[in-house]
Amino acid sequence: MSSCVSILGSTGSIGRQSLEVIAACGMRVAALTANSSVQKLEEQARQFHPELAVMMDEEAAADLRVRLADTDIRVAGGMEGLLEAAVIPSADTVITAVVGMVGLRPTLAAIREGKRIGLANKETLVCAGTLVLEEAKDYGAEIIPVDSEHSALFQCLQGNRDRGEVKRLILTCSGGPFYGKKAAELKGMTREDALRHPNWSMGAKITVDSATLMNKGLEVIEAMHLYHMPPEKISVVVHRESIIHSLVEYCDNAMIAQLGAPDMRLPIQYALTFPKRVPGPATELDLWNCGPLTFGNPDLETFRCLDLALQAARTGGTAGAILNGANEAAVAQFLAGKIGFLDIAEQVARAMEQVPVRFNPGLKDVLEADRAAREAVG
Ligand code: NDP
Ligand code: MG
Repeated sequence: MSSCVSILGSTGSIGRQSLEVIAACGMRVAALTANSSVQKLEEQARQFHPELAVMMDEEAAADLRVRLADTDIRVAGGMEGLLEAAVIPSADTVITAVVGMVGLRPTLAAIREGKRIGLANKETLVCAGTLVLEEAKDYGAEIIPVDSEHSALFQCLQGNRDRGEVKRLILTCSGGPFYGKKAAELKGMTREDALRHPNWSMGAKITVDSATLMNKGLEVIEAMHLYHMPPEKISVVVHRESIIHSLVEYCDNAMIAQLGAPDMRLPIQYALTFPKRVPGPATELDLWNCGPLTFGNPDLETFRCLDLALQAARTGGTAGAILNGANEAAVAQFLAGKIGFLDIAEQVARAMEQVPVRFNPGLKDVLEADRAAREAVG
């Protein structure tokens, strides 16, 4: 069980909910980091008294230094600061809640210090899953998933002694805000339409990924790495209600599922308290009034991003880094109003065609694949 936590990306959706859990469970905070939200980070620092507060943006770091001058909190900036927060000696656990591939270096740094990683930053595993998991094994660092589906799988796998008994992992998928729509209707969808998620309130990038179903594709790759499963043993089922967070099917055809209200504070808390469970702030599930639970197939033809991610999962090597880099760049362009909703899949497909895949990649190959994919999107 964690007692002192460093949060990378504390001002975001996962970061803020992590602080709620930490406050409720009486844990301490060693370091907090953000990109540019100075005021939010100042408020959090005054409330939680970390040793270190980091702004990725150097100007914002200078501002924060002035704001916190009356405290003994140290302020740092840039990637150096983020790396310092990742390895700070007083933390036993690091929650990686930054968005995007920028989380890769700090995650590796925390692993090399043997910290427990509460992993929310899925892009890191999609780009460099093999590398990250190998390092975690070498340095004896535990990686406990925060993503709700992977936390569900982790919980459903407790007690399983022989991975050979697992027939397949089944990831549930809400279907996102555009469930049931066809390409012709999706063409004119705007930023505001995509940001209206039916069940979860999350950061902008992952909300768009949920609308394109890229999020589920990234999660298939994430599950592949976390649980050492080939892609053909991972299935996606559309479950609109987001009550079942994922399932494990065993070789005797038993299915074990984890249920709960759609509330990220539960998987965040489990990553911090594992192997213990303690009472916490997550909403109780009212099973008697939650209505019928439904299941269906994802529409891979309309939601091409999921299909592209499944292709990348089957290809392996740097295909995940190419898929992710292109997607991060395309989603940023969509959020900036520069491209349409359907162009996201178009851009990702183009990058996957253009950028050559390397197998058994090292960190350099992953970074190069990411760079080339972003360049292909333009
Ligand atoms: P948000 O956009 O809400 O928050 C992102 C956090 O990272 C903020 O603190 C932000 O700081 C910081 N940040 C953004 N860009 C950079 C950068 N370039 N360098 C350093 N820090 C940066 O994201 P979410 O909390 O929604 O998601 C975080 C991660 O967790 C993502 O990988 C997502 O896929 C994953 N996840 C999220 C879930 C959710 O429910 N939200 C569920 C499952 C997984 P600032 O505020 O200054 O911009
Ligand atoms: Mg998820």
